[in-house]
Amino acid sequence: MARYASVDRAVCVACGTCAAVCPKGAAAVPDGRWAVIDTARCVGCGLCARACPAGCVALAERGAAV
Ligand code: SF4
Ligand code: SF4
Repeated sequence: MARYASVDRAVCVACGTCAAVCPKGAAAVPDGRWAVIDTARCVGCGLCARACPAGCVALAERGAAV
């Protein structure tokens, strides 16, 4: 799956839900301010996006122009 999770840091409330549900250990809140996604581990399953109470996780296409 050629997608990965992307967090809007301005909206993230650092609740840690994404880290709790991620089956790959790709999501973490390392400094307590916002979630960080390890894109090398992320498989784009979308579980974190569905679980996020702030709605600030989107799935981005890998390789898309930014
Ligand atoms: S679940 Fe959403 S609000 Fe909570 S830490 Fe993850 S990205 Fe931030
Ligand atoms: S999309 Fe899936 S693998 Fe990627 S960070 Fe979210 S829960 Fe983890």
